[in-house]
Amino acid sequence: MATELVLGGAAERDLTKLAEYEAGGGYGALARARAMTPQAVIDELVASELRGRGGAFFPTGRKWTFIPKPDQNPNPHYLVVNADESEPGSFKDNEIMARVPHRFIEGCLITAHAVESAHVFIYIRGEYTGPYEVLIAALDELGSREDILGGVAIVVHRGAGAYICGEETALLESLEGKRGQPRTKPPYPAIQGLYASPTVVNNVETMATVPPIIELGGAEYAKLGVPDSRGTRVVSISGHVEHPGNYEIENGTSVRELVYGLGGGITGGRGLKAVIPGGSSTVILRYDEIDVGYDFNSLLALKTAMGSAGVVVLDDRCCMVQLGIRISEFYEHESCGKCTPCREGTRWMTQILRRLEAGDAEQHELDLLLDVCDRINGKCLCPLGETAAIAVASYVDKFRSEFQAHIDEAGCPFGDSSPLHNVLAPVALHTHSPVATVPA
Ligand code: SF4
Repeated sequence: MATELVLGGAAERDLTKLAEYEAGGGYGALARARAMTPQAVIDELVASELRGRGGAFFPTGRKWTFIPKPDQNPNPHYLVVNADESEPGSFKDNEIMARVPHRFIEGCLITAHAVESAHVFIYIRGEYTGPYEVLIAALDELGSREDILGGVAIVVHRGAGAYICGEETALLESLEGKRGQPRTKPPYPAIQGLYASPTVVNNVETMATVPPIIELGGAEYAKLGVPDSRGTRVVSISGHVEHPGNYEIENGTSVRELVYGLGGGITGGRGLKAVIPGGSSTVILRYDEIDVGYDFNSLLALKTAMGSAGVVVLDDRCCMVQLGIRISEFYEHESCGKCTPCREGTRWMTQILRRLEAGDAEQHELDLLLDVCDRINGKCLCPLGETAAIAVASYVDKFRSEFQAHIDEAGCPFGDSSPLHNVLAPVALHTHSPVATVPA
């Protein structure tokens, strides 16, 4: 079921304009939140059962409770917003910032009130020039509106194209002007985050969901969705579907409905082969596994996840080895190099997959590929290496006969007919720079 709490209104009105947004009641939730104590706002978020929309799915209200009280830690509190959306297959935060920038900003200001922060840092993906310009224009419009800003300073930083800066501690390093590499945890950002101060790091969609929660009330919001996955989610549907795009759905909607309902079915009436449910780093679903709810528990039962809600649909002409190469190359390129299993393992994965595709692989290399994946899993500092290994291992697990055919037939059974050129396009667009701090 489509329920537009985040993107709502943007189809009828130009919500990039402050006057339009306010005419529809915009910034009313902020006024209501400021009339409440910070703890009361946190309580509403806890009651809503909202979980982070960036991929980790951690309960948002609970995260806010980890910020120490001023008498426990005298350092200033910071709110950092992760707008570095870089997961191949996900492009929802792009649209949220471009179409409902004030709802996003309102969510940031409510959160700043809840965690008692006078500073909001928005770290936006460098390639997102369109949303960046919309965001800057929206902030310019707010420039003298102290009744809205309430003394909170909002700073927008542009990243420089490193996928790893989507990991919260690498993002904080980059924001501080250092090389964007993950930190060892603990300490967690809530205790020692930006400039070693208590910091909440939240995703764009999470922020844009906060105003409707304050408007509805947490308990009312929690009536939407299914257990452990309350409310709505903006899902990016791409690949071989008739109607790719972002759709706001109620959590628990079936994957089949996403593909054949909202997505309009497979392009050209072809057969479905597989669906990547939550961006490039999630375990793939076979065509016969899509009668499952798009929610945390239902997908967990199939050992996969909603991740960053990038639903990538693959038709029956796609080669799973070629898909593996594309994913592996991406993670090899984006590895920050800090951990040997990730840095070297992703390179090994790519090399074996390329040998399979070229018809040069020997029988034992199929097991060697899985062995390399196993040697990455659980042995890295951050999830990057692990997710690459889990994703590729799932292609072998679910399509082993296809991998075997590359060995038996000494080459790719699909060849140039595999239509992956228009799937996961951000892979090709990505550029890499380890230091990503370009002040706005
Ligand atoms: Fe860097 Fe990879 Fe280690 Fe993450 S897992 S810290 S990206 S080397």
